Amino acid sequence: MTTADTPQPSRWESIDELAAAVRSCTNCDLHTTRTNAVPGSGSSKAQILIIGEGPGFNEDQQGLPFIGRSGKLLDEMLAAVPLSREDVFITNVVKCRPPDNRDPLPDEVAACRPYLERQMELLNPKVVVTLGRVSMLRFHPTGKISEDHGKILEWEGRILFPLYHPAAGLRNPAIKRELQQDVLKLPEAVIASDRISAGSPQTTEIEEVQEETPRPSSQPGEATEAEAQLSETLLKNETTEEKEQGDRQLGMF
Ligand code: SF4
Repeated sequence: MTTADTPQPSRWESIDELAAAVRSCTNCDLHTTRTNAVPGSGSSKAQILIIGEGPGFNEDQQGLPFIGRSGKLLDEMLAAVPLSREDVFITNVVKCRPPDNRDPLPDEVAACRPYLERQMELLNPKVVVTLGRVSMLRFHPTGKISEDHGKILEWEGRILFPLYHPAAGLRNPAIKRELQQDVLKLPEAVIASDRISAGSPQTTEIEEVQEETPRPSSQPGEATEAEAQLSETLLKNETTEEKEQGDRQLGMF
């Protein structure tokens, strides 16, 4: 890809205009294997931007984000807060499905970066929720999902709220419990974002925001960090059946 071919974020004046550009984009090799690009969906006025890693089989077929089993779990988690898809905007780090649901390659992430950057500019969300390791690393390169999931972090004047990927929750009950516990802190993350926008100095460093109410200690049935760490290893072995079902590969959670 030449510099002249590189998508320029300022070219797109609206979310819809950007989506049209994504649907016809040929700026990385993922366009050769996609059925549909998946620009994202939701409210263009959303204060919460949810970012996954990349489309899976079902998303590629329909051109919409998080519509498989992972999407159902995401909907259930949002309903617990309570929020719906109309209250948020959902997109991915890469807008086209990597073959066999593999992790996107660095050059694919780089090629797609201007779209996500412009989505951030146009939406100007108060809270960025990342789903999975790859999405978190886009904002927090030194982060570790097993340690940082569920933390309310300050990132460049916004709240960064990393969560495990729902596909990981589908594979492992311990991860699912962590995810369901973590998402209950989303309202607190929104409140924390108001404190930031109310005048706290903007920082380019990632910092954990002081919680107003301490995080509850582990309850019976709640996953421990040790369980989650163990799951990281277990989850790297995706079955053929799961690939065929189209949910995201789990090495990235
Ligand atoms: S993944 Fe992004 S950069 Fe690559 S073809 Fe799709 S829209 Fe274009």
